[in-house]
Amino acid sequence: MKFGGTSLEGATAFQNAARIVSERQTLRPVVVVSAMARFTDALLVSVKQALSAEAASSAGTLEKHFDRHIRVIDALLTHEAPRMRKLLDQSRGEITELLNATAAEIGQDHKRRKLFADAVASYGERLSAAMLAAVLAENKVSATDVDARQFIITDDDYGCATPLIDETFRRAQEQLPPLIESSCVPVIGGFIGSTLTGETTTLGRGGSDYTAALIGAALESEEIQIWTDVPGVLTADPRLAPKARTVPQLSFEEAAELAYFGAKVLHPKTLQPAIERNIPVRICNSRAQESGSTLVGAETEKSPQTVKAIAHKTGVTTLQVTSARMLGAYGFLRAIFEIFDRYRTAVDVVTTSEVSVSLSLDDTSALPGIVEELEKLGSVSVEEKKAILCIVGEGLRNTPGIAARVFSTISDINVSLISQGASRINLTFAIEEARAREAVIRLHKEFFENSNEENAITQRVTSEVENRDRVLG
Ligand code: ADP
Ligand code: ASP
Ligand code: MG
Repeated sequence: MKFGGTSLEGATAFQNAARIVSERQTLRPVVVVSAMARFTDALLVSVKQALSAEAASSAGTLEKHFDRHIRVIDALLTHEAPRMRKLLDQSRGEITELLNATAAEIGQDHKRRKLFADAVASYGERLSAAMLAAVLAENKVSATDVDARQFIITDDDYGCATPLIDETFRRAQEQLPPLIESSCVPVIGGFIGSTLTGETTTLGRGGSDYTAALIGAALESEEIQIWTDVPGVLTADPRLAPKARTVPQLSFEEAAELAYFGAKVLHPKTLQPAIERNIPVRICNSRAQESGSTLVGAETEKSPQTVKAIAHKTGVTTLQVTSARMLGAYGFLRAIFEIFDRYRTAVDVVTTSEVSVSLSLDDTSALPGIVEELEKLGSVSVEEKKAILCIVGEGLRNTPGIAARVFSTISDINVSLISQGASRINLTFAIEEARAREAVIRLHKEFFENSNEENAITQRVTSEVENRDRVLG
C-alpha cells in the first residue's frame, strides 16, 4: 500500500492513512510512503539555493515545512511524540549541515551536485515513514519504519537511479518477511535507494509508486495498491478536464502507455515489476474510498467507447534529422540512436520517412551535444515547447474510424509525429504546447462527455450499410 504526498499532507491525512492501513491488517500489508506534499520540492529548492551559495537562506526556507511535521506530531502522537521530535530535530540539523557544507565543497561537478541533492531529498520520505509508523503504533497497530536504503539497491545515476533488481529483490525477501510474519507492518520511504557502496540515491520524481511496485513484486504480493488524491486513473487529467471520470479497469499495457505519456497518477516505471510478476495494481482514493478505483491487470474488458483515456505531456522537444543519404541505406537509424545512447537520453516517440527521422525528447539536458553529433549525419531541426497527446484503449486495435474522429475533433491544430504504438492500443502525436489544454478538453468532450455518441455512430454506420445494400439491390 503506497500513500502519496497528497495523502500525507497534514495530521488529518496521516490519521486517515493509518486508519486505511489498520482496517487491512489481516491482509498483512507493507506500507510505502512519499514525503509530505510539497516537501520534496522545498528540499530541492534549498539544494539549488545552497549550490548558488545562498546557504543561509536555503535552510531557512525549510522551516515552515519542519513546522508542518511538528504539527502532525503534536496532533497525533503522545507516547511517540518525544522520540519523533528528537528525530525531526536531528534531521533538521543534518540537513542544515549538509546545505552549509555544500557550496564551497561541491563546485561544478555535475555528479556530485546530484548526489548531494539526493542525500537532502531523501529526508522527506525518511521522515514520513518514521511518522506514519509512529501514528500506526499509537493506533495499536504494530509497525516499524524500515530504511529503504537497506534494500532498494541502485546504480549511481543520482536523481534517476535504476534499481539493481536481483540485489533489491534478494534483500527485500530477506529483510521484510520476518517483520510481516511477526505481524509488524513495515513502513518504508518510497523514492529513495542506495548504491552498493552506500550512497543515497533517488529513483526520479514521483518514484514512490515504483518503490511500491518493486517491493510488491519482490514479495509476490497479492496486489499493489497506490493510494492517492483522485478516484483511480481518470479519463484525462482532471486539472484540464473537470468532467474526467474513473476508468474502472485497464490492461497493464494501457496503464503503462498512460503513465509513460503523462498521467502523473502513476510513475512511468510502476507497471514494469507488476507486469513481470503478473500482480494487479489498484489505484484508490485515500480521501474518499468509495468514490471509485481503477484495477490494472492482465485481463481487461474492451471499453464500449473503445477509447479509455487521454494522457498528455508538455515540455517536450521534437527533433527532425533529414538526409538524402538515408535513402535505401542501412545503419542510419543505428547511427542516430547510438548518439542518444551515448548521451543517456531516452527518446519517446519516433517516426520515419525515406529521408528523415523525427523524434521527441523529454530530457533536453544533453541536447547541444546530441545536435552537434546528429548534424554529422544530416540537417537537424529542433522545435521546443511541444506537447504529446496519447489516446489509449485496447479497442483501438480493431475499431475503425478512431483516428479520423481524433483528428477531425482538432482539425484546426497542427499535428506532427503521429504514431500508433506497436501494441496498437495507443495513438500518439505531437502538437504545440500552447494548444495542449484545449486539445485535451475537446477530445475529452468528444469521447467521454456525450453518452449518446457511441449509439449515434453505430446507427449511422448501420443505416449507411442498409442504404448501400438497398442501392446494390
Ligand atoms: P501522489 O502524491 O499520490 O503520488 P500525484 O500528484 O503524483 O499523487 O498523482 C495524482 C495526480 O495525478 C492527480 O491529482 C491528478 O492531478 C494527476 N493526473 C494526471 N492525469 C491523471 C489521470 N489520467 N488520472 C488521474 N490523475 C491524473
Ligand atoms: N516525494 C517524491 C517526489 O515528490 C516521490 C514521490 O512523491 O513519489 O517526487
Ligand atoms: Mg505521485
